[in-house]
Amino acid sequence: MSEMKVYADHAATTKLDPGAFDAMKPFLLEEYGNASQPYSFARSARAALKEARRTIADCIGASPEEIFFTSGGTEGDNWAIKSIAMSGTALARNRVVTSAIEHHAVLRSCGAIEREGHPVAYLSPDGEGVVSCRVLENSIGGDTALVSIMYANNEMGTIQPIRELAEIAHRHGALFHTDAVQAAGHIPVDVRKSGVDLLSASAHKFNGPKGTGFLYIKNEVRNGSRILPYQDGGAQESGLRAGTENIAGIVGMSEALRISCAEMEERAGHLARLEEEFLGRLRGHGLDFRRNGAGAAYGRIPGNISVSFRGASGEALMHRLDLMGVCVSTGSACDSNSTELSHVLRAIQAPPEYAYGTIRVSLGYENTAGQAAYIAGCIAKILS
Ligand code: PLP
Repeated sequence: MSEMKVYADHAATTKLDPGAFDAMKPFLLEEYGNASQPYSFARSARAALKEARRTIADCIGASPEEIFFTSGGTEGDNWAIKSIAMSGTALARNRVVTSAIEHHAVLRSCGAIEREGHPVAYLSPDGEGVVSCRVLENSIGGDTALVSIMYANNEMGTIQPIRELAEIAHRHGALFHTDAVQAAGHIPVDVRKSGVDLLSASAHKFNGPKGTGFLYIKNEVRNGSRILPYQDGGAQESGLRAGTENIAGIVGMSEALRISCAEMEERAGHLARLEEEFLGRLRGHGLDFRRNGAGAAYGRIPGNISVSFRGASGEALMHRLDLMGVCVSTGSACDSNSTELSHVLRAIQAPPEYAYGTIRVSLGYENTAGQAAYIAGCIAKILS
């Protein structure tokens, strides 16, 4: 086992920001009142909830009442897709259009509504992992309730033309949801500018605590009765998502998002330099590789690098790197039990001689140029 430890799987999860941790502590140890109780001891929990909702809304250009706290990205995706598909039935719109490269939280939610009789179209991306407007135009119709396309892909970081896709959905009378789990806190996300109706995000992807997230639901969607309660019980989250709020988690998430947005530009610059260092070193070692999504028309999430090495095994590479103290993932870490080629690599038709040798190196702002060079050096050693 190596002494050197390099965590390079930030698309899977991130370390809690110390500032977020500090903000959380009082709500775990001292101010632990139930925000729904009317007495004064619960006042600070209530105030913190209100403040966190405002902070998150400000970070994404929303109004506070449009932010609904969830347990993470998976819940937000399930809620948005199942709810809008169901409410669409009464409007003779029961179809959902999504893409073949979505996270399983979206794909399996779509599978569930298909079993309930809702037709679902899975759009193919181009070879760079981008869903084009033309492909959506060819698939959408007057029977479409919802279009759900991820803001950025988790395996390659490729960013989608969200504003343009949302515009097409609206032109056909459909609502637009985006899974922004990989985008929020990493690139500028503005719900008004992008025109999305629903957006899901997850705190642990931007240095917030695990098990906390939010779903943005545009006021018009709620007022039009298109969103159905996710779970029934108490009156929390305007009666749409019952259950005592996780105040510490919510406060940690809002502080982590605030810090991520404030530091975004600086971190993106640092990550771009690390990417250059890593890829330059790989080339310097004379390795035969391709970067997936390299030519993505709308760019990629900073630090997310999917690389495929000719004739290699991504699985073996990941385990050998682990022994050298380096954490990376093969394909998507959310489905690490599978040795099959990922659905994303299949969808972009990655050449098989490279595709099986794929790893995802996702760097974070705490990684250094020395660590990027070390990872490349380890890969070269393993492959030689
Ligand atoms: N959507 C995307 C794009 C993701 O990358 C992930 C997690 O990796 C999720 C959804 C699920 O988020 P959570 O772990 O918060 O449930």
